[in-house]
Amino acid sequence: MDKKTDILSLNLNELTREIVGLSERGFRAKQVFEWLHSKKATDFSEMSNICDQLKDKLGKKFCIKSLNMQKRLVSSTDNTVKYLYGLDDGNKIETVFMPRKGKNSLCVSSQVGCRMGCKFCASGASGLERDLAPSEMLAQLYETARAGDQIDSVVIMGVGEPLDNFANVVKFLEILQSGYGMSLRRVSLSTCGLADKIDELAGLRLGLTLSVSLHASNDADRSAIMPINKRFNLKTLLDSCAGYFEKTGRRISYEYALIDGVNDKGDDAARLARLMKGLPDGSYHVNLIPANAVESGSFNKSARIRPFAGRLAKENINVTVRRTLGADINAACGQLRGGRRGCGQGEK
Ligand code: SAH
Repeated sequence: MDKKTDILSLNLNELTREIVGLSERGFRAKQVFEWLHSKKATDFSEMSNICDQLKDKLGKKFCIKSLNMQKRLVSSTDNTVKYLYGLDDGNKIETVFMPRKGKNSLCVSSQVGCRMGCKFCASGASGLERDLAPSEMLAQLYETARAGDQIDSVVIMGVGEPLDNFANVVKFLEILQSGYGMSLRRVSLSTCGLADKIDELAGLRLGLTLSVSLHASNDADRSAIMPINKRFNLKTLLDSCAGYFEKTGRRISYEYALIDGVNDKGDDAARLARLMKGLPDGSYHVNLIPANAVESGSFNKSARIRPFAGRLAKENINVTVRRTLGADINAACGQLRGGRRGCGQGEK
């Protein structure tokens, strides 16, 4: 493995310190940063306005991480694309491209595996292998763009729990904005509910959209399918969510995958409506997802999604139903393979 410093993971301040440390003028850092993130250079030799002497120094000290595309699967039903990327330690990650008129979005992975253990998710069994570096999250965009897929927005909903890799995800967001030039209004982050980290994220006031994977309307049911609920129960989670809305003004999307016989009854809908009504007005939106069956076979798609949505709408809860994308290439939520989880869905 490369012992050189991972230059793509440095924010502009860090890069400036490094460049000044090489006895170069600080403004050079801005030029290099632009080469890396806006022009997506893969080699220092491409940096035409940088003198050879500095290019030489950079090449000796730093490496520019890239991903090795191993598969590119295109759905025959909806053109969703699933990428399988190899990392330099041999691990593999999945990234899903969801083309939609005027707003193509990329579902980015934040970890190799996941340790949250949600029972309905394909990655539950294999646990966490490691966190992804900021460079490995950025490279998912850069490689996908190089393959010709134009990205308008990013959802951090692929493999992993982004708030369990907090510092790297925040650095990724910072560079995505300042280097790649994407407004964080075009970014959504999905969490299974690490309430303490939601508080921390709120304090940063980044302006991104938060999605919270709720999937149940009381503590007993939620703890049975999502172990994180034993650490942060519904009240603690929803208090943090209310705080996030107060600090950022950003409406939160509550994700609810309807699983046959688990969380899809009329009582569940009524309880979910009550939970939502306890939140500040205008601070929530419920997104119903048809659960995708995973290999274990114990969780199946509910047929009650329409009546469930109707019940919520009758209670004046703002609700949408998501359509599953990329099911034929196993790119839909919770289906990403090799013990990895991920997404692949768009709103209707
Ligand atoms: N760790 C984050 C993001 C990754 S999962 C989170 O938990 O939010 C992205 C979304 O897919 C989450 O809402 C997750 O709960 C959902 N998901 C996982 N497995 C699923 C399945 N089998 N069917 C439907 N959605 C699933």
